Amino acid sequence: MAIVTLCPQCHTGFTVLPEHLSRADGWVRCGRCAHVFAVDQHLYEMDDPRPVQEFIQPLSRPTLKRRSDPPVRNIQSRMWLWLLPVLATVLLIQVTLLQRHWLAARVPELRPALRWLCQPLACVVQSLKDPEQVSMESSSFKRLADNRFAFEGVVRNPGDAELATPSLELSLTSHGQVSLRKVIGAQQLGLPDSLPARRTITFSFDFSLDPALSAEIDGFKALLFYP
Ligand SMILES: [Zn+2]
Repeated sequence: MAIVTLCPQCHTGFTVLPEHLSRADGWVRCGRCAHVFAVDQHLYEMDDPRPVQEFIQPLSRPTLKRRSDPPVRNIQSRMWLWLLPVLATVLLIQVTLLQRHWLAARVPELRPALRWLCQPLACVVQSLKDPEQVSMESSSFKRLADNRFAFEGVVRNPGDAELATPSLELSLTSHGQVSLRKVIGAQQLGLPDSLPARRTITFSFDFSLDPALSAEIDGFKALLFYP
């Protein structure tokens, strides 16, 4: 990287040497067209300075009133060098937060970091709900005693993403008619809040019914759903 100057009149480029800046307050005469200009008003950075000519002459004494405004273009380009990484980081954080539910589902290890990012913004990282993926692999219902019953189910998440645990709707039937419907949440089933990818989890519980009702129960229907 070399510092060069361009003559503002004939646009010839010159390599800038320390003496150009120190002598005559930085005023130089163009070696091609003899135009006099302040070298610090026309500074540029160049990757390859080879084609640049080297015959500007520092003046022996200042013959023009010195202009004091700084090289604006140069300061602006340096500001952008600092600003670009900051802007890129802000953009990356914004995209990460927008896609936080999806990211947490695909890479559960990221969940603590995403929660930490969310804290100052009061946002939350939720598990994805995909009723098409989650299914009841098997279920069984049996009478333990006159009015005591037990239910066992196996819930399956065959997908690649961690998903929110659904709730269970259990309908108890009598001669094909629904006699009682119970909705049981993930916590009541003793299941974690989310189902890891490619996993099956077994759960079971038992409960008592009113003796008059329990005598009629002869079947059940179990359905998983997201409230
Ligand atoms: Zn010139």
